[in-house]
Order: sequence, then structure tokens, then C-alpha cells
Amino acid sequence: MTGRGRLPVVYVPDADERLSSWAARMAPFYAMTVSEFVSALGLQGHDVFDLEWRLSEGQGALIAARTGLSPEAVRAMTFWDLLPEARMMIARGHGRRCPACPSDIRRRTSALPWAFHCAVHVADLQDAVGSSLPAILGAGPMVALERAVKAGATVLEAWAHGAGQQSFGPVEMLALLTARHRRASPLSLREQPRMSLQTRRNYHEFLTTPITRQALTVIVPEYDRVAPVLTKPVLSGPRSLAQGSLLQSFALTVGIGRIAEDPVARAIDVLRASDADGEGRVQAALNSWPLSLRRRISARLWRAQRDESARQIVAKPSRRGQSHKYRRVQSHEYRARIS
Ligand SMILES: [Zn+2]
Repeated sequence: MTGRGRLPVVYVPDADERLSSWAARMAPFYAMTVSEFVSALGLQGHDVFDLEWRLSEGQGALIAARTGLSPEAVRAMTFWDLLPEARMMIARGHGRRCPACPSDIRRRTSALPWAFHCAVHVADLQDAVGSSLPAILGAGPMVALERAVKAGATVLEAWAHGAGQQSFGPVEMLALLTARHRRASPLSLREQPRMSLQTRRNYHEFLTTPITRQALTVIVPEYDRVAPVLTKPVLSGPRSLAQGSLLQSFALTVGIGRIAEDPVARAIDVLRASDADGEGRVQAALNSWPLSLRRRISARLWRAQRDESARQIVAKPSRRGQSHKYRRVQSHEYRARIS
């Protein structure tokens, strides 16, 4: 394999196969490491993952000339069509696996954090330990979340290809989803596993460790219910999706789908679930949203708060089983007395 002639044997890339996967299959055939094989392609010193992220036309032409593959076939193994911000989200390593794919083939689509099915087998992707989303969430909730996750993936896909709205997309939505809307707090009773008093004492530190509370749990309560409490918090902003677990990426994609459907209502849900501490952080996250949306959020929030205080005034004495008319009178009297 000296000189710069055409390699005698070249595997045809599999459907949707990544360049790093193809190179890892080719190298052993020539008894080489991947970096030696990359050198043999005429690209000495280049990292295969870097080439996969951003292959220049010249590099593509070099690989095509050495392998006899068409320049289009070479380029199809890379992420050339994604915006740089979106490329940051691609898993460098194995990422998620399809149980039906051959173990040495890794596909482009499976490297995208918003893909949850194999592009070839449509099977549910699994994480590094072999868990799949239906196993974690249950088949019923998976069906219920299908529409939202598809909507979220569509938004992300459009953004990654530079086709989304410029001023309002996944980055702005992730700012809200990952905002810490409440002060960090220890596990709630609902989050605690059942345990004896003694176990409780033994795990005192664990039970009193404050957990980060994020808007994702408000917008996707299904995630809040199933996520293990210590791995419930996600990283902030786009890194949450780029480096999240399979379950976290899924929940974030569902959240993006839900925000895209009604951004004003979802922002209000979060603001109303916030505490005094977190409200400022949520507002700061919303500052990245377009002004027109922020105006609608403030107006609707003000109306909701006004209606709620009116309801509270009426509802308070109702538990005593008095007539509606009397309740109103009494509540006004009460208010008059305390003011
Ligand atoms: Zn597959």
C-alpha cells in the first residue's frame, strides 16, 4: 500500500454509515489502525471524527480518488449538511445502538441526539447499557409522547439544516427547559424510595442532598416521574441535548415539541411553578425569546394571576358549605377587616 494509487479492496459504505464506522471496518482489512488507514488515504494527521464533522471538498476528493467511491458517497458519510452548532451535538463515540444493526456498523442518524429509531431498521435505539426508551418509560407513555417527540425532532432537524426560524429555535427553547425554576431542594416524599427508618438514617446525606430543579420537569412531567433523581438534572442550554442520556435527550426533544406547539402557555406553566429564587432565572432564559412572544407571556401571565387571586377570594370560605352569595359577602368583609 505504498504510493497513492487506488486501494485494491474497498468496502461499500452501508446505508447511512458514518465515515468513522467505515474507516474502522476498513483499517483491520489492511492490518492498520484507523489513524494509519486515514494516513493511507492521504490525510495524515487528521482525526477521523474531525473529518466526519467537516470534510473539505479537497479531502473528499482525495478519499474518492484513493477508494474509487464517488465524492457524493464519501460526503454522505459525513455531517457536511449540518450547521456547526448542530454538529457540536453529534456523539463522537458509539452513541446509541440499534439492536438489529451489525455491531461494527454505526449510522449517521443514530449519532443525532434527537433520533430515537434506527434509520434502517426503525428499531428503538438503546443506550450504552442496552436500555431502550419503551423499557424506561413504558409502552403506554411512549405512544402518548409520540406526537410531541416527532414535533420536537422536526424543529431540531430543521434548525440543524439551517431551515428553522432564525430568532426562535431549539437553542432558545433549551434555555427555558434547562432553567433552574426553583431553588435546589432535597428529594420530595414522592421521589424517595420506600425505606425503613433505619435505612432512612443510613441514607440521611443522600436524602438531604439538594437536587437541581429545572423547567424540563414542569414541561415534561412524564420525565420527572421516571428519571432517577440523581441523574434528573440536565446540563444547561444546548449541552443538555449534546451530552444528555438517551432518556434526557428524549425528554428534551418532547419539551421542544411542546414549546413549539404553544410557547406562551409553556412559559407561563414554568413561571407559575417557579419560586421567588427561580423566577429571575426563568425570566433571564426568556430574554433570549423574541420580544413579541415575551409581550404575550407577560400579558397572559398578568391575566392569569388576576383571575387566580379573584378565584381564591371566592373559593376560600366555600369549604364551609355556605351559599355562594353569602360567601362573597363574607370574603369581602374578611378582606375589609384585615386591610
Ligand atoms: Zn439498525
